[in-house]
Amino acid sequence: MSENMSQTPLLEVRNLRKLFPAKSSFLSKEKTYIKAVDDVSFTLNPKETLGVVGESGCGKSTMGRSVLRLIEPTDGEIIYKGQNFRNANGQELRKMRADMQIIFQDPYASLNPRMTVGEIIAEPLNIQKRYSSREEVRAEVLKIMEVVGLNPKYYNRYPHEFSGGQRQRIGIARAIVLHPSLVVCDEPVSALDVSIQSQVLNLLRRLQDSMGMAYIFISHNLSVIKHISDRVMVMYLGHVVEMADKKELFANPSHPYTQALLSAIPMPERHSKRKKIILEGDLPSPANPPSGCIFHTRCFMAQEICSTQKPELKDLGDGHFCACHFCGKCNTNA
Ligand code: SF4
Repeated sequence: MSENMSQTPLLEVRNLRKLFPAKSSFLSKEKTYIKAVDDVSFTLNPKETLGVVGESGCGKSTMGRSVLRLIEPTDGEIIYKGQNFRNANGQELRKMRADMQIIFQDPYASLNPRMTVGEIIAEPLNIQKRYSSREEVRAEVLKIMEVVGLNPKYYNRYPHEFSGGQRQRIGIARAIVLHPSLVVCDEPVSALDVSIQSQVLNLLRRLQDSMGMAYIFISHNLSVIKHISDRVMVMYLGHVVEMADKKELFANPSHPYTQALLSAIPMPERHSKRKKIILEGDLPSPANPPSGCIFHTRCFMAQEICSTQKPELKDLGDGHFCACHFCGKCNTNA
C-alpha cells in the first residue's frame, strides 16, 4: 500500500466520461459516439504517483487531458483540493489550472520553435502574472533551469538546438515553474532513447521528492510504470479494469488483461515461471464496444456470462479493484 492512502485526496475523479462524435454513415440518422473515457473513477493523494497503463487507444491520454479540462469532459465530477473543478471558471479556473500542469509526450512538437528556452519556461509565470518585473521572472526561470539540469547559459537558445532529452527537460521546467501540486505526465519518456529515459524518470522522482507534487503518470510501458508508480490503474477501451497498489498489482494481477500485459514484460529466463499470454485480435472500436464485459472478445478466460453481463469494478480489499466476473479465481500466475 502507498503511504499516502489514508490522506485526504488531492484529486477525486468520479464517473468521468468523454465522448467524441463519430462520423455517422450517410444512411444512418442516429448520432454515434466514440466512448474514449467511460465511467472512470479514482482518487489521487498528495505526493502520490498513479501510473495509468493500457494499450494505445485505451483512453488514458484522453482521461489525463479531461482531468485537466484541456478537453472538456462530457460527464462526471472532478474534485480538486475539495473544489469542484468542472464548475470553476474565470479567475478561479485560472488559479486552479496553475496548480495542475502537464508534461507532453513529444518534446519536439510541444515546444514553440520560435520561442527561446527562457521565453518558453517564463510563459506560465507571465500568464499567471506571478512577478511584476522581468528581472524577477528571469531569475525564477534560471533557478528552474538549474533544478531540471539545464545549463542557464542556454536561456536564449531555441528548442531545435537541443537533444530530445534536453527538450523534455525544457517541457518539465515549463510544467513545474509554477510549483504545481499535480502534474499529468502523458507518456513523457516514450519518445526518448532508452538511455535517456531513466535519466528523465529519475529527474521526475527527484522533483517529486523535493517539490511534493502528485503525478498521474500515463504510459503504455509497464516497466516504466513499475519504476515510477505508487499505485497502478489499468485501462482498457476507456474503462478501468484493475487498480491496486503497485506491489500488489505486480504480485497478484487479477484481471486477465493485466495478466496478459504483465506476461509480456521481458524477464530473465531463470527468474520467470510465467507463460506469455498472447491476446488475440485488435482493440475493438470504442464507437461500438463489445456488450457485457468489454474485454470478452479477446479474453482467454471468457465464459458465456461475459458477453451479456458487464462486470462491476469490485473491491478485493486493501485498495485492490478489479472488473471481472471471476476476479481472484482466474489468476494464472502471470
Ligand atoms: Fe474475461 Fe469474463 Fe473476466 Fe471479462 S469478465 S475479463 S471476459 S473472464
